[in-house]
Amino acid sequence: MRKRAMALSALIVAAVVMVPTAPALAGEGPGKGGGANSGSHHGGKGGGGNGNHHGHGPGRGGGANDDTSRLLKAVTVNGILQHERALQRIANNNGGTRASGTPGYDASAAYVSEQLTKAGYSVSTQEFEFSYFEETGPAALSQVSPTPTDYETATLEYSGSGEVTGAVIPTTNVVIPATEEPSSASGCLAEDFVPASETEPQVALIQRGTCTFGEKIANAVAAGYDAVVVFNEGNPGRTELLTGVTIGGPVEVPVVGVSYADGVALYDASVAGPTTVTVTTSTVSEVRTTVNVLADSPRGDANKTIVVGAHLDSVTAGPGINDNGSGTAVTLETAIQMSKLGVKPVQKLRFAFWGAEESGLLGSTHYVANLTDAELATIYANLNFDMLGSTNYARFVYDGDGSADPDGLAGPPGSAQIETIFTDYFAGKGLASAPTAFDGRSDYGPFIAVGIPAGGLFSGAEGIKTAEEVALFGGTEGAPYDPCYHLACDTVNNLSTAALNELGDAAAHAIMTLGVSKTGFFEDGSRVAPLPQIDVNNLDYWGSKPIR
Ligand SMILES: [Zn+2]
Repeated sequence: MRKRAMALSALIVAAVVMVPTAPALAGEGPGKGGGANSGSHHGGKGGGGNGNHHGHGPGRGGGANDDTSRLLKAVTVNGILQHERALQRIANNNGGTRASGTPGYDASAAYVSEQLTKAGYSVSTQEFEFSYFEETGPAALSQVSPTPTDYETATLEYSGSGEVTGAVIPTTNVVIPATEEPSSASGCLAEDFVPASETEPQVALIQRGTCTFGEKIANAVAAGYDAVVVFNEGNPGRTELLTGVTIGGPVEVPVVGVSYADGVALYDASVAGPTTVTVTTSTVSEVRTTVNVLADSPRGDANKTIVVGAHLDSVTAGPGINDNGSGTAVTLETAIQMSKLGVKPVQKLRFAFWGAEESGLLGSTHYVANLTDAELATIYANLNFDMLGSTNYARFVYDGDGSADPDGLAGPPGSAQIETIFTDYFAGKGLASAPTAFDGRSDYGPFIAVGIPAGGLFSGAEGIKTAEEVALFGGTEGAPYDPCYHLACDTVNNLSTAALNELGDAAAHAIMTLGVSKTGFFEDGSRVAPLPQIDVNNLDYWGSKPIR
């Protein structure tokens, strides 16, 4: 799927006339290791085209519409940080959070709206209702009889609130001992549950496994259970306390997680004889209203709209200055500077600041779901920027061509070409990059689900940096990319200015390159990508938390 290199003469002309930012060195980055890890990253010119197609030079008064170097100079770390500081102040003034459904989010939306309006964009807000969730106290799980025992436990996202004491009733299809790979279908079917007592409270015991938590819990509630305990499945990497996972939407009953070992203990006890537990959760789960902020460039072909997205919301636990103040600030500053420089997009640029991403990609899902078929056909591409300033950062590019996927699953046709815009850019700057999976963890999800090509950048979240990545990107081996991911310490002090500089410029370059491309994705005729495609129904994430 890689495109062949642009004709050399065209490159030379471009190099002389336009002082291009990327092309001359493409393929010569330091990414020796990166090549190994990332397959074909430093190949030929990206399909979006770096605008090597016409010769007018970068004259002051409006030439160089296709040379990104002026934009990259204009998008500075200082400019990005000004927005970050504004977002930090908003959080400080609103209880330390900018989560959708809170005043801190509304103030964030007002801030970006005002900035974009001042910059000449046509700004609108798209309001939608969503299920707001907040944990207001820790969960508890204790065995009352036969043997009083306290278990370590955690609330599943979207659990109901309350205290239930009742007998533990396991589902069928529990797999103990667990297999090497996930295999338990415990609770995936209605008939996995013994119908609950009509008179006595009862607690369903379910093993994590192949279907989603949402499916399991819905079946338990339908069978009449008053609370649910889900235990980790027991495969390698899935033995610890089950926490940080989501049901995906509100349920009425308390739902908590436990480790595999504790689940087995509860299972064995309940099979041996009547076993009673008390489950306690403290949550707020209610419908609230939030918005997406959308800002359209005045110019550009609306029949080819590029949606440049960053989620604007934080988690409830903190101010979200890296996640995703960083993507917000870079996207916003790029929009502002493109306008100031008078860049004339060929495609319409729609800068989108999504609400309720942290609740399960809800803003972007709402946006895509509410496009008419005709509107859907006008979306040319989606760029997504979610976390660009991680302190122990990597330069991850969404894996559009599936080169890093174990099954070679790629994004929709065009995604591979978008990936090369980023990887060529980094290679041209002598910076290594590596692919990161379209795993469903951010707002490109609803776009690739309907076949819109997507791409973007990611500096890393809670994952642990490997030795190979340290060789590529520097930083600290064995430490998370972002030690404050989803925590109260995700403040303005939780940013790498080097990351913001490098990934910010790469983002600005790709936004402009796609915006001014006159040739589209498929110059080489590869309209139908011969690549097996990702099926979003098989993803383990829809948002930041595992759904199965
Ligand atoms: Zn995020």
